[in-house]
Amino acid sequence: MKFVSTRGGAKVGCARAIVAGLSENGGLYVPEKFPAVSVEELSEMLGMSYAERAAVVLSKYLDEYDADWLLNACESAYSGFGGDPAPLVRLDDGVYMLELWHGPTCAFKDIALKLLPYLLKKACELCGIEENVLILTATSGDTGKAALEGFKDKAGFKVMVFYPSEGVSKMQKLQMCTQDGNNVNVVAVKGNFDDCQNAVKEIFSSEEYARQLKEKNIILSSANSINFGRLAPQIAYYFSAYLDLVSSEQIEMGEEIDFTVPTGNFGNILAGYYAKRMGLPVRRLHCASNSNNVLTDFFNTGTYDMRRELVRTTAPSMDILVSSNLERLVYEVSGRDCKLTASRMKDLKENGVYSVTESELDEIRLTFDGGYADEETCVEAMYDVFIDVGYTMDTHTGCAMKVAVDWFEKHKKDETKMIVVSTANPYKFPQDVLYAVTGNDVKDCFKGIKRLHAATAMAVPKCLSALKDKTLRFTKTCDGKKLFAEVMEFAEK
Ligand SMILES: *Cc1c(COP(=O)(O)O)cnc(C)c1O
Repeated sequence: MKFVSTRGGAKVGCARAIVAGLSENGGLYVPEKFPAVSVEELSEMLGMSYAERAAVVLSKYLDEYDADWLLNACESAYSGFGGDPAPLVRLDDGVYMLELWHGPTCAFKDIALKLLPYLLKKACELCGIEENVLILTATSGDTGKAALEGFKDKAGFKVMVFYPSEGVSKMQKLQMCTQDGNNVNVVAVKGNFDDCQNAVKEIFSSEEYARQLKEKNIILSSANSINFGRLAPQIAYYFSAYLDLVSSEQIEMGEEIDFTVPTGNFGNILAGYYAKRMGLPVRRLHCASNSNNVLTDFFNTGTYDMRRELVRTTAPSMDILVSSNLERLVYEVSGRDCKLTASRMKDLKENGVYSVTESELDEIRLTFDGGYADEETCVEAMYDVFIDVGYTMDTHTGCAMKVAVDWFEKHKKDETKMIVVSTANPYKFPQDVLYAVTGNDVKDCFKGIKRLHAATAMAVPKCLSALKDKTLRFTKTCDGKKLFAEVMEFAEK
């Protein structure tokens, strides 16, 4: 299987695509074609563990990796999840929650970022890269912590995370700044997420910086969600969730189902689209946003228009105006036209807006629709489910729940089963969740945890409650212009 860039250029193997992250012209790597999974293969996967199912899905794309090696990697990566990494919980007749937050950082990013170090290390070997790899990541909260946990103490890697000094939650900040491991570093960057992301992008695009790092025997790589090595592991949980519905006799094999996915960078939901293209019986994908509803407007009008203020919400991992992975979908529906995709992305960069044609929008809408929750309707959705069935969800998942409920209200006779993808443990955002389910407001996140536990009786993850007594290891804040000096200092350590 070769990979092509959404903006044209040479084909590469999967290892090269994973090492590079982005193609040289800024495009995203996509598989040359979608590998198929037949109904027979699906049936064979029914009796498998999560790691085994993931290895089957991954081996369809990553043919430069040995299949047994992939299975071993999946088993190691997912061994620390305390059981099934992606359990499905029945909420109501026909509605299920896919809980993707049972990993070490309590958010769905773990599913990809626990496996990525294995994939990347092997990819370096396959490409004959001998330098050490410095993972550089800008984060709005959850990716940074998951990258730190994934790459900590992994030989051959260093990992450095930059987060915006204004823009991550208290809990997210504590999670990152208390990180252990002897190859990690965390620095706050003055400003918001866009400032932080731009400063990091500048480092990646500088040949001079690359030269200076190479002198230290270091190359840069990214753990951001545009890397195919992050997308591929996410495809697996769509398969696994489907198979769990079949084996628990909630659906017949072959019956189509829907997913509602809380969306920021469009990585999670895009993996669902890839699963559908591979033959998984998925009918519709409902894309859920918060008040930063650029995607909702896109699915309604065919115009992607980011010319608006970024709003800070209680679902910070979805506070994003440029959903990078949408480029992969737009590329597909353009008939894989790399020139057109490149020119649209240029329009986005220069003017903040681009449109797809009416027929492309029609094709998109055969599978996708978009909705959003503002702060109030998100709280309402979380409260209603808590009161009706006693299930507690986080704020990101709350946005998805609102969108799913809207769909059912508009389509009362729809009997298609719905899986709502749940992306974070509620205790990761304890004050906001506490407010949603009880109306109580507390200032301190650990008081929030205590009261949320009293209200819900849900188990508190140790990794979050233990933060209270951990010492801060990383306290530095730097100016966006001085980022590279920080990188060099860390590289020399
Ligand atoms: C990252 C994240 C999202 C958004 O996922 P994308 O792949 O960026 O669309 C949603 N919820 C949580 C909790 C996240 O950490």
